[in-house]
Amino acid sequence: MSLDSQINELSELILKHRNAIVFTGAGISTESGIPDYRSPGSGVWEKYDSSIVSIPGFLRDPSQYYEYALEMYPIRSGAKPNNSHLLMAKLEKNKLIEGVITQNVDGLHLAAGSINVHELHGSIRQASCLNCGQIYMMDEIIQRVQEGENPPICKEFENNICQGLIKPTTVFFGEGLPKPPWVASVDKCKDTSLMIVIGSSLQVSPANSLPDIALQSGSELVIVDLLDTPFDTRATLKIQEKAGLVAELLEATLEL
Ligand SMILES: [Zn+2]
Repeated sequence: MSLDSQINELSELILKHRNAIVFTGAGISTESGIPDYRSPGSGVWEKYDSSIVSIPGFLRDPSQYYEYALEMYPIRSGAKPNNSHLLMAKLEKNKLIEGVITQNVDGLHLAAGSINVHELHGSIRQASCLNCGQIYMMDEIIQRVQEGENPPICKEFENNICQGLIKPTTVFFGEGLPKPPWVASVDKCKDTSLMIVIGSSLQVSPANSLPDIALQSGSELVIVDLLDTPFDTRATLKIQEKAGLVAELLEATLEL
C-alpha cells in the first residue's frame, strides 16, 4: 500500500473513532534532535551500555550515569517540540484524540500544548535523593556535576548530614513505573476504540503491554514506526515511516 493510501486510512480511522489514545516513544522526538535508544547506528545504546540506567548499574557506579547525563541532559532539556508533538496538541484541541501516553521523559508533549498527557517514565526535569526523598531540579544537579561533584550527594537535609545519592526521577530499568500515570493509562486503553502508536518499537515492558490491553478491549491499533514491532501483525495499519513525515501528511489530509 502506498504511503498516501496509508495516510488516508489513518485519517479515516481518526475521524471514525474520535477518541484515539496516542502512545508515543523515542521515535517522535528524534526529529527534535533527541537520539532514540535502539536505531542502528544512532541509538543511544550503541554508544552507552544501557545498564547505566538500571538500578543495579546506577548504584554500582552512579558517576558513570552522570557522565552519560552530562552529554544527554543538555540535548534533551534544550530540545523544542517538532511538528508531530504540535499535531498531537492540535488533534486533542479539535477533539479528535483523547490524549497522549508517552514513554518519553523529555516533556515535549506538554511543551507543545497537549493537556491530557501521561508521562509513564517520569520527566528529566527533576531528581530526588534516594535516602530522604528531597527533590532537586535537574538543572542544578547537572551544574553541580559539571563543577566536579560526581556523583552528586544530598546536602539539603538536616544540616548536610543526609549524604544520600541523588537520582533523576526518570524511571530506570528494574524500577516500577510511577502509579498515577500508569493507572490512568490502563483505564484509557480499556476505554479507547483506537490506539495509535508513534515512534515506539514496543520493546520495553510494562509500557508495551498497553497496546495489548487496548487490543483485548476490542480497540483497533495503528503503528507508525520505522522498525518492526511485536504488534505489527495485530495492527489494523502499520506505517513504516518517520513520525514527522506522517504528521505532516496527516495534518494536510485532515485539513486542520
Ligand atoms: Zn537526602
